[in-house]
Amino acid sequence: MDTRISGNTKLLGVIGTPIKHSGSPVMYNFCFDYYGMDCVYLAFECDESQVKDTLAAMRRLNMKGANVTMPCKKEAARNMDKLSPAAKFVGAVNTIVNDSGVLTGHMTDGMGVVLDLRDHGHSVADKDIVLLGAGGAAMAIMVQCALDGAKSVTVFNRSAAGVAKAKAIGENVREDGIICKMDFHLLSESERMHERIRHADILIQATSVGMRPVQDGVSLVTDMSVFHEKLVVYDVIYNPAVTKLMEDALAHGCKEENVIGGKGMLLWQGAGAFKLFTGLEMPTQELKAFLAGREAMERKI
Ligand code: NAD
Repeated sequence: MDTRISGNTKLLGVIGTPIKHSGSPVMYNFCFDYYGMDCVYLAFECDESQVKDTLAAMRRLNMKGANVTMPCKKEAARNMDKLSPAAKFVGAVNTIVNDSGVLTGHMTDGMGVVLDLRDHGHSVADKDIVLLGAGGAAMAIMVQCALDGAKSVTVFNRSAAGVAKAKAIGENVREDGIICKMDFHLLSESERMHERIRHADILIQATSVGMRPVQDGVSLVTDMSVFHEKLVVYDVIYNPAVTKLMEDALAHGCKEENVIGGKGMLLWQGAGAFKLFTGLEMPTQELKAFLAGREAMERKI
């Protein structure tokens, strides 16, 4: 048993299902240890029908905060006392801060990409961005890019329903006074998509295309002439670490430092949440070293 747990220890956790595989407890408890904070972070099985009870328990037990994962993100958003701008636009919450019983919902998934890009030396401010996908991850990224000053975000999605949903979110963002040119198209408009990528600063792939095991080895970008040394390519997929899109970008003129996979998104959305929970920066370098050591040890076992 952890000897640092006391009568005053504050509880945080992640809710969702399935939850046993979650890497969040290891990540946050490492950071609490790093700062010597009297906090502990656990994982709790919770489906959508249990969200209201779980939120009541958060208040009752005076939990400091929680992360929310699938399938509870939307139901959590519907039951918050307050929402951050990103959570309000997306209609989903992945981080809850409990301030004396007042629960504020935040969405840091998009922040995960923006902060990871920043960690690689790229800002989204004033940039032309092409975004593939209109699912949960894509919408969080679209909204965060707009909030962080992107010049334009052009969204391409497989279904017309997804395009319409993205458009509605985009309209809400603009009605709130956020200046960002946004337009929305079907992925089947392949010529337009490739042309937009060719002239973009940043391409963000936020569909599940390329993900192991079902969609591994495929990419939505089929015209290799769109890649060039100034284009930044970000793929939210983290398994495999190098997707077909990333391989193609590297083989056709993109610089290695400008081709980024989704592993850092996990870390940086956590860094965003950690700051909301504690007001402190997540010790990302130390955490990366700790997680790499753990991975190496697990491979040996
Ligand atoms: P979602 O189900 O909400 O959205 C899936 C998106 O992929 C939709 O836009 C859908 O149209 C598109 N899509 C799926 N198959 C397609 C195909 N064959 N052709 C074209 N489009 C296709 O899922 P989500 O939560 O948005 O997650 C999307 C991906 O992002 C997943 O692979 C997930 O693992 C990954 N993700 C990564 C991180 C990270 O931290 N790196 C975080 C969240 C999500």
